[in-house]
Amino acid sequence: MRLFGNRQRIVLVALVATWLGSLVVVAAVARSCRPAPLPSYEHLELDPLHTPATAYDWTRPPEPAFPIPPYAQYLSGVKIVIDPGHGGRAYKRGWKIGPTGLREAEVNLGVALHLAEFLRAAGADVTMTRDKDVYLAKDEGDDLRQRPEIANELGADLFLSLHHNASANNPNANRTEVYYHDSPDHSPASQDAGRHLVTGLEEALRLEQHLPCAVLCDRNNAPNSGYAVLRYCDGPAVLVESAFFTNPRQEQLLRDPVYQRREAYGLFLGLARWARGGLPRVGVIEPADRRVRPGGSVVVALDDGLSRRPQVQGHDKIRVDSIIVRLDGTPVATELDRDKWQIRVPIARDCRPGPHGLYVDLETILGHHVLRPNLTISIVRDWDLSQGRDSDPSRDREGAVVP
Ligand SMILES: [Zn+2]
Repeated sequence: MRLFGNRQRIVLVALVATWLGSLVVVAAVARSCRPAPLPSYEHLELDPLHTPATAYDWTRPPEPAFPIPPYAQYLSGVKIVIDPGHGGRAYKRGWKIGPTGLREAEVNLGVALHLAEFLRAAGADVTMTRDKDVYLAKDEGDDLRQRPEIANELGADLFLSLHHNASANNPNANRTEVYYHDSPDHSPASQDAGRHLVTGLEEALRLEQHLPCAVLCDRNNAPNSGYAVLRYCDGPAVLVESAFFTNPRQEQLLRDPVYQRREAYGLFLGLARWARGGLPRVGVIEPADRRVRPGGSVVVALDDGLSRRPQVQGHDKIRVDSIIVRLDGTPVATELDRDKWQIRVPIARDCRPGPHGLYVDLETILGHHVLRPNLTISIVRDWDLSQGRDSDPSRDREGAVVP
């Protein structure tokens, strides 16, 4: 008895084949969706799931693998000037040299070169003040002035001077310190970078010693003027003392290129987290040429460094109470347009003609401040404005303007 004709048999075979094919696809998809097996801890001396946390030694550093985390993407386009401290002429007897002869200048440069590599891999715009064992100028004062000038000319988002520390009387001293210039109010954005750098370094180096507050004012050590490289910077600037080369054990570690790379990775992660936190900027948008008559007003755009990113919801990342506006150092009451995130700054009728300093800072929900809060405007008399010229031709140069 024939149940099926040829044609029905072909259709049946095709149906069965399709069904089997679907099964294979479903099985393959199910396999690919299955979570990866948990890592085995057998190769470790201690089983992290069944060992009290106190049994681990903090000073044991992580594996020397240096992956670029996804959040490092926010470094893309960020202008960073790396300044490996000292160099060249500093090679004189006993000066900045560890117990067995390691030169601080060498280590600073080694770490800086690794850091530049990490930052460039993440798309940052990196400039080094030196990439060889040289001094920038014959005179030490000129050298210290030229380094920050490189950052000023570029309008850098950060000047980062890399150093290692020394103690004249305590060979055991060994900790991380990061310095900002002058006073807490001088450049809050510098301290933002400093906080991230301390954490990155402490995680990477695992030193036994630490300061309760490792972000420090340079006037602690140089009461009269602070550190020259920071003093001459007109943008965010920090000086990092990662560890002490006068500590005999640390001196040996600092000789090791893998250790130098680890240190650079800690700095890199700190900078990646700093960039991820958003780099706020302000700029005069009206009048576009920043020339305003007495009794007029200036409009400044506020950019929190976060809201322009894709996938960021809302434009409410600025703590309104944190907005500070000062004209020539005196606080000014301003109007805030919360739709456009712009402020209008009134200019008094008796404001004298010439250049004036306008300071605009704010704090975001992630605690970051304006990179370059010092703007310059020019007050011009009506007659000069109509003639298209400044009342005072010596107008200063200006930071970035928010479009
Ligand atoms: Zn130094």
